[in-house]
Amino acid sequence: MNSKLGLPVIDAHAHYFNVNTMQNWLKRGRTMETFANRTKTRTDMTSIELPDENWDTAQKWVDELDKYGVERMGVMVGPEAYDAFKETMKRFPDRFIGYANIYPAEPDAADKVKQAAQDGFKGIKLYPSSWKDLKVYDEPCYPVYDACKNNDMLVFLHFGITIGGQADLRNGNPIDIQVPSRDYPELNFVIAHFGAGWFREVLLMQYQTDNVYMDSSGSNSWMKYLPYDLDLKMIFRKAIQAGGSHKILFGTDSTFFPRGWRFNVLEAQVNACRELVSDGVIKEEDVSNIFHENIKRLAHL
Ligand SMILES: [Zn+2]
Repeated sequence: MNSKLGLPVIDAHAHYFNVNTMQNWLKRGRTMETFANRTKTRTDMTSIELPDENWDTAQKWVDELDKYGVERMGVMVGPEAYDAFKETMKRFPDRFIGYANIYPAEPDAADKVKQAAQDGFKGIKLYPSSWKDLKVYDEPCYPVYDACKNNDMLVFLHFGITIGGQADLRNGNPIDIQVPSRDYPELNFVIAHFGAGWFREVLLMQYQTDNVYMDSSGSNSWMKYLPYDLDLKMIFRKAIQAGGSHKILFGTDSTFFPRGWRFNVLEAQVNACRELVSDGVIKEEDVSNIFHENIKRLAHL
């Protein structure tokens, strides 16, 4: 399958929300009003549709993927949407890649990883930027890494700034994953959004380790908050020069409707990479690694 831009595409990082996800948010005291205010000033979304009982999340996303010619979409799945997503994998066996959201401080976190692997998930998602009093190198995380190792699960991590309201940026530095990456050379760690502001640290890690990857997902608006100018082309160039094109996974961070699948994110990132090809900095093969091959290899598709 080729995307509308002429190259095969797998989106390695998006989200799977359903009606339960939203109800859970409201239960935790999150109001749509505060969320809408944050998204208005920090994202390109002007409105959000709330999933209701009749909402077919799976079909909505498959329609979007078909519209743009996208092979698959890797999605972070919270506990509220877990069972629904299992059904989705049965209905559309080749269109999604599941990563289960795991909070290592829960006593059964490692069991959940094992269960997720048995249920067909290909990885887990950790969200250290939102953790309280827990670092990714702390003891409770190690059984989770063991379970990932034993079940061949990829580890996605969201460090850096976040739209989520519960952030604790003391836990937001991707350098924190260096020690686990050393202790688990057979595991692969993917830092979302190029580190969401901690780009330098993710680049430095390319010197230090061989198993720390990065995803390109979202608008990468974190670059606006750095004290120097950076654009997508520069980000890709630096990332490829530091780690190689095999270390970067394309993603959109698509989450909500009516926005749907973020074709504009694909367009901007493909354009940046194609410019690097015409500048002679990278080759076509690098582009295909980033937009298709790397996630295929890492998630054993
Ligand atoms: Zn995300």
